[in-house]
Amino acid sequence: MHPRFHPRLINGPFDDPGLFIPFLFESQAILFDLGDNQVLTSRDILKISHVFVSHTHMDHFIGFDRILRLALGREKNLHLFGPRQFLSNVEGKLAAYSWNLVANYPYRLKLRLTEIHHDYQLSRTYLCQNEFIPTDEAERKPFTNILVEAPAFKVSAAILDHDIPCLGFAIKERFHVNINKDALNELDLQTGPWLTDFKQALYAGADPASEIEVITGSDTIRHFTLGELADHIAMVTPGQKISYIADVAYTPANADKIISLAQDSDHLFIEAAFLDAQQDLAAEKHHLTARQAGELAACCGARQFTIFHFSPRYLGQEDLLYQEAEAAYAENS
Ligand SMILES: [Zn+2]
Ligand SMILES: [Zn+2]
Repeated sequence: MHPRFHPRLINGPFDDPGLFIPFLFESQAILFDLGDNQVLTSRDILKISHVFVSHTHMDHFIGFDRILRLALGREKNLHLFGPRQFLSNVEGKLAAYSWNLVANYPYRLKLRLTEIHHDYQLSRTYLCQNEFIPTDEAERKPFTNILVEAPAFKVSAAILDHDIPCLGFAIKERFHVNINKDALNELDLQTGPWLTDFKQALYAGADPASEIEVITGSDTIRHFTLGELADHIAMVTPGQKISYIADVAYTPANADKIISLAQDSDHLFIEAAFLDAQQDLAAEKHHLTARQAGELAACCGARQFTIFHFSPRYLGQEDLLYQEAEAAYAENS
């Protein structure tokens, strides 16, 4: 099976947080957190359609400017999500620049911002051509834990406590479609862009009787119904799930919310700022220890987990953090 999501932390564990998730064979990616992202290429950044910001401490938000700069002057819709006050946080960043030249840009960048409160969410649109001054009122909707629901995947969030609200995120593929290459050969079909359309039609729940046109190995055109083709060449397996937990205090309420958000993750990325020997310091700074992170990963049933966001006091001793987290995971699995 070829997983759809290929998550990678953009920096080392002592540097700013950020999880970049490109989608296989698609020019789309999402980003969890906006720490310093200089290491991402412009090409990577331009693939990003959705950005999810856990909270606006500087190490999680300073990368906003680079994304904005690269997206400026392009035909692009960029969706950004963050906790309460996120709209005014981004407005503050936008207000820091002069925008008198942007009205002449031929392409239209559109920012759609959403801030999450306990029982509602506020969304607002900011157009480059209007110098990012919104013309509409913010739209208010109930918050139901789901931030994005696309045909192929959904992104959920939980509001966690880091002294201030901090969002945890999970992206889940609805289901995974593998193509049976032997079955393709038997039907004398070649791989090609039609396979992407075929998968999209399955994700969109299109009518199985709808027709699909395919070019065969001998360059002739054949017609199949979606259902017929799905029966022959598609193997459907459970979708992939990636979760991301940034700065959080180790409290029973946080632990419950993390476990329900990240349940059954294929890969959980979770902060571990301190060793358990410095548990008091971790509590004072509203962060996790490596033991707590490993324990939570086990309680979520995460098949794989990665810790990040280490305190600089452990430079050169990162093995201790990894060992402590692994031991807690093994003990609680
Ligand atoms: Zn923080
Ligand atoms: Zn942080």
